[in-house]
Amino acid sequence: MTTSSTGFDKWDLEEPISSAIRERGWTEPTEIQVESVPHARKGRDIVGQARTGSGKTAAFGIPILEKCKVSGKIQAIILCPTRELAVQVSEELSILQGKKGLAIQTVYGGTDLEKQAKKLNEGTDIVVGTPGRVIDMSKRGHLNLETVSLFCLDEADRMLDMGFFPDVLWIFEKTVNRSQTLLFSATFPEEVLDAAEEFLRDPVHVMSEDLVVEVPEIDQYAVRVGRANKLWALGRIIGNAGDDSQILIFSNTKRMVDLIVERLGKFRFNSVGLHGDMPQNKREKILNSFRDGSEKIVVATDVAARGLDVDGITHVINYDLPDDTEVYVHRIGRTGRMGRRGESWSFVSGKEVQSIDRICSTWGLTIPFVEPPSLPAGVERDFVPRRDDWEEVSDAFGMVCVRMSLGGSEKTRREIVDWIVSEARIPEIAIGETYMDSESLIVEIHVEKVAYVIDVIKGRKMDGVSLNPEIVNA
Ligand code: ADP
Ligand code: MG
Repeated sequence: MTTSSTGFDKWDLEEPISSAIRERGWTEPTEIQVESVPHARKGRDIVGQARTGSGKTAAFGIPILEKCKVSGKIQAIILCPTRELAVQVSEELSILQGKKGLAIQTVYGGTDLEKQAKKLNEGTDIVVGTPGRVIDMSKRGHLNLETVSLFCLDEADRMLDMGFFPDVLWIFEKTVNRSQTLLFSATFPEEVLDAAEEFLRDPVHVMSEDLVVEVPEIDQYAVRVGRANKLWALGRIIGNAGDDSQILIFSNTKRMVDLIVERLGKFRFNSVGLHGDMPQNKREKILNSFRDGSEKIVVATDVAARGLDVDGITHVINYDLPDDTEVYVHRIGRTGRMGRRGESWSFVSGKEVQSIDRICSTWGLTIPFVEPPSLPAGVERDFVPRRDDWEEVSDAFGMVCVRMSLGGSEKTRREIVDWIVSEARIPEIAIGETYMDSESLIVEIHVEKVAYVIDVIKGRKMDGVSLNPEIVNA
């Protein structure tokens, strides 16, 4: 038997690191790693773009780990947008360094500052942190940025946007002995690249043709459903997902996250919420149980879930669509990682149709509108009952079109409308335009009255004719 040299072996990495990679069971570097590691080892600045889940952490992590020595002086700083991400990156680096023995410290807000300060003071080789706390630590004299030679931004698109930019720049300017800058991200919008100029010296841009396709290849579906029935559709998806699945549900607000968790619970679906208001240790606990598979359904905001690396996620659900088209790509990238199968479902209410159109045109996607999955075999009743959702079928003036079949009645439209108004005892103003053809009359009825009118008319006959009122979908 012959042993062939793998991609990693070819690089002839430092012993502890190559052993760690082998033990981890990685055989080949991913594309972004192939493209960037050799340049980074040579000391070049890098702008690396690759989709979520493509192994960017090791792409900057391997060269950083190789370049740092066990010295107790901070030689590398890696900035991340969230605490979760910082923890995740530092965990990955700790594994990848194997027995090298570098002190890797995580520095982030929301937890005991003194404890982190103490650890830093005990000697640190690599810092992974969020900008706010790094600045704080540096101002308090616990974190000396002057010894840093490697400066790295993970999720650089986010680090260089308006919110973080001043903090990141502050830290950057304090790293006066910096010799190399590494920026990695799933996307590099034009403004971010412009902002990045300040940080870079003759960088290698690793954005090969292949990597420009940032949208993960997973099955993407959209479901046309109003607010009132999103939970019903969610019930269908969860009910069909199977026991091995792990589902990540995104909502735009913390309040909605809590609401979804609570309402799912009412229908006996166990789920757990994840958002920025929760204490750090609780969030980490939830993440760990999601990672080890004991938690199956997590409902999260974007902030809490950004950069999350849970390999087993089979379904991503956009309970609300994000306002930002890029966020969509980040969200769905949580599934289908490392070539696994994944699917995403986006719930699109009338108001959100524009957002899904924008997402499709920005990324060149066709996301088909489908019905939610049908009930699994043997299940008779919906997990979450479907409700009437008049908001969804009403127009901007609150009018809903209802079709009445005429069944050969000779009445004029005026007479029919008068009959409806008097039977249902509604004010005339609740009726809008009418449209008549040979078989039916379409009547606009105000959303506040429509359910009631339909109920009344269903139970009565007009000169022996049933009008069979029916909603006309917009
Ligand atoms: P990104 O930052 O690009 O979203 P990550 O660095 O989080 O991606 O990596 C995604 C997953 O792929 C992680 O679970 C990581 O451990 C794994 N991974 C990274 N590189 C390799 C590799 N060469 N072979 C196998 N798995 C890898
Ligand atoms: Mg990452």
